[in-house]
Amino acid sequence: MSNKCFSLALHGGAGAKPGHDYAAEIAHMRGLVEAGRDRLAAGAAALDVAVETVVALEASGLYIAGRGASPNADGAYELDASLMCGATARAGSVAALQGFKSPILAARAVMERTPHVMLAGQGAIDFAREQGLETVDDPERWFTRAGAFEDNHPPEALPTGTVGCVVRDAEGRLAAATSTAGVFGKMPGRVGDSPIIGAGAWADGHAAVSCTGQGEYFIRTAVAAQIAHRARFGGERLEDAARAAIAGVAALGGHGGLIAVDRDGEVAMPFFSSGLKRAALLRDGTILSQAF
Ligand code: ASP
Repeated sequence: MSNKCFSLALHGGAGAKPGHDYAAEIAHMRGLVEAGRDRLAAGAAALDVAVETVVALEASGLYIAGRGASPNADGAYELDASLMCGATARAGSVAALQGFKSPILAARAVMERTPHVMLAGQGAIDFAREQGLETVDDPERWFTRAGAFEDNHPPEALPTGTVGCVVRDAEGRLAAATSTAGVFGKMPGRVGDSPIIGAGAWADGHAAVSCTGQGEYFIRTAVAAQIAHRARFGGERLEDAARAAIAGVAALGGHGGLIAVDRDGEVAMPFFSSGLKRAALLRDGTILSQAF
């Protein structure tokens, strides 16, 4: 397969409500895929496209991440994000970050400007401030879901919402990025899979994965790294590896979905949940955008 193909997938979280109209999200996701396609056609790097896409998903307020975040049980907005570059095996992440508009930019700064992979809580907040990242000064006005907790309950036991993007660029490099407010009504300090490298995000030379769903189950089955390892060490096709990993979540009683892309540009987007807001650019140029 020519190295010059590129593909990407993005998600706006598992757990779509049956009967709800997702036209706005579907159109928004399609627009982001088209923007990503144009950037990749112009030679942009996988990591840059993944981060730009997640920044736009966060900023939209349409998904339960970034501006659309839901508060924890104490009413505080504790956000998690991570990213990984498959070409360099570098990674960055933040957990329980409060007071910033784009957790994924904070995760990128951790990767690029510290010797660490992950910063959490007050340390992450202090670092993001030092980096001059944009702050949220009035959470009640900024977050689109403030005060709307009850209206946004999807049906599963631990309702969820996350955004993510995976990219295979024209040079064959892979990258993954994930950002979330975590599950609705979570305990203060609770951290899910999204900022855990290998659970909620992973990229290496074989596959890039971003997950969404009940994070506890994704951590317990190391879903994102598992898929790349199935492809790399087991020789499994991406679709088979991704389905097997989601089956492992389901077998434990969890719900969720994921997006994945491999080094050949194949895309997989399996889910075991009431839906998965997702969109993709396949390597033949086809664009998909769906909620169920
Ligand atoms: N996986 C996220 C978490 O558990 C939530 C989600 O994807 O909706 O924090």
